[in-house]
Amino acid sequence: AIVSNGELHMATNAAFPPYEMSADDGGYEGIDVEVAELIAQKLGLTLVVDDMEFGSVITSVQSGKEDIAMAGLTVNEERKKNIDFTDSYAKGVQVIIVPEDSDIQTAADLGNNKMIGCQQGTTGSIYCQDDYGEDKVTDYTNGAKAIEALKAGKVDAVVIDSEPAKQFVAKNEGLKILDTSYVEEDYAIGVSKDNPALCEAINSALNELIADGSVQQIIDKYINANE
Ligand code: GLN
Repeated sequence: AIVSNGELHMATNAAFPPYEMSADDGGYEGIDVEVAELIAQKLGLTLVVDDMEFGSVITSVQSGKEDIAMAGLTVNEERKKNIDFTDSYAKGVQVIIVPEDSDIQTAADLGNNKMIGCQQGTTGSIYCQDDYGEDKVTDYTNGAKAIEALKAGKVDAVVIDSEPAKQFVAKNEGLKILDTSYVEEDYAIGVSKDNPALCEAINSALNELIADGSVQQIIDKYINANE
């Protein structure tokens, strides 16, 4: 058995639309949730979505509490020391959200003593701390809270993944996304280093779902169809 109880436990932070969010029926929906459901089906397992803070997603897989991490999770070298990643199934882009009347026009302008709001533990936060200094970055537990801080003038910009950014800007008046993207990245599924058989099984299921167009169909349903 590659997991216990026939259940595939997915660690996520369900405040990251359109990858994972609460559904009207009390469950969860989004690109990651639907891809995970198809993977679980292929492996003959039942998917269980476990919602938590983003900062706990990787550690919970590392400790074996959760089977997989799927959270618009960016592949990076630092994380590879702690967990294994499957092949990538989607691209992410870090973008900059500012108030419509902001004097910030490019990523370089963030260097002009600006305060940046990010989500705790995300690559966006790490890049901003590296590029502009730790004292310039305020971390929030999720994107919605960072957006509230931006609207309240507590930070000058928010750096976050582009698809959640589009949804936050659509739902909040007076904000815009800068045309210049900040960093481009790959999303993949995180699996414990102690369970290479699971990583391998998920990878072959995932690659079948990429090859037959299922993954693209799910992405189109949540993203491209709305543009
Ligand atoms: N892609 C970013 C990261 O992996 C943000 C993910 C998220 O906030 N759910 O750090």
